[in-house]
Amino acid sequence: QGKLRAGNSVSVFTPQMQQEINNNNHFTSIMEEALKNEEFVLHFQPKVLLSTEEMAGAEVLIRWQRADECLPPYHFIPLFEKNGFIEEMDYYVLTKTCVFLQNYQSIVKGRISVNLSGVTILQEKVVENIVAIVAKYEISPAQLDLEITETAFVDTSDVLEKIQQLRSHGFTISMDDFGAGVSSLNRLKNIHVDTLKIDREFIIDAIENPRGNKILQRVIEMANDLQLETVAEGIETIEQGTLLKNLGCQIGQGYYYARPMSKQQFITYCQDQHPS
Ligand code: C2E
Ligand code: MG
Ligand code: MG
Ligand code: MG
Repeated sequence: QGKLRAGNSVSVFTPQMQQEINNNNHFTSIMEEALKNEEFVLHFQPKVLLSTEEMAGAEVLIRWQRADECLPPYHFIPLFEKNGFIEEMDYYVLTKTCVFLQNYQSIVKGRISVNLSGVTILQEKVVENIVAIVAKYEISPAQLDLEITETAFVDTSDVLEKIQQLRSHGFTISMDDFGAGVSSLNRLKNIHVDTLKIDREFIIDAIENPRGNKILQRVIEMANDLQLETVAEGIETIEQGTLLKNLGCQIGQGYYYARPMSKQQFITYCQDQHPS
């Protein structure tokens, strides 16, 4: 499948591996191996209050660490969404996040966000399963946020109901990649979420593109009117951060504040927020 960039190194997802993955039996054994060897690792990217740059939470981002290469999610998540492994993956990430919180909840400021695939949220028992995982590890849903990409918010009463159930258990829900998909605005009429994560596409040229700037401004105003929290993703410069803050956006996430980092680095980041 050609070359892909993973961090600074260039790695190759070999045609042989691609073929093995396409063959479902083989795929199952690759995944069992990968899970057993703990090849799926959690990285963490802090979110900050734009007003003070203090930590306001963090997002968990999965990486597949194979031998000496670190595969970013865009390379395997779409595959997992096709072959049905994504549900297991998402629950695995949630489980590992709960284990992390068991040990470190006292140093984490704000909620930890876990991404849920649009495929996972459609599963019949998704609410039951999520509630059972957090209960098993005795983690309060009040410590967790679930990010669901806006394209998953299809207007079926089914998804709507699941979101409401999750919120009534105490999870918050973020609509991820807001503005990147098609026709997401009308979905806000009937689906109640807590947070809009404004897609990086809006942030990239917010300064140079006057039309983009106006749209961004109105999106934030609308979110504020609807009493939705706003998170801007992909902030890479201080100018972008300042602009977003001035437009009334509450929270920022991006390389300018902090890159996704390993668990150990994240623990240090959290400790630095709590000088003792
Ligand atoms: P996302 O949820 O929208 O996550 C934000 C992505 O933007 C992450 O990419 C993050 O590393 C990247 N990012 C953050 N700040 C910046 C910045 O300042 N500039 C740029 N250029 N990029 C930035 P990543 O880690 O490659 O993840 C990609 C997508 O994979 C995520 O998009 C999410 O949809 C999915 N994903 C990651 N982990 C999971 C997971 O555990 N489960 C599921 N279902 N999906 C996941
Ligand atoms: Mg996300
Ligand atoms: Mg996002
Ligand atoms: Mg995005």
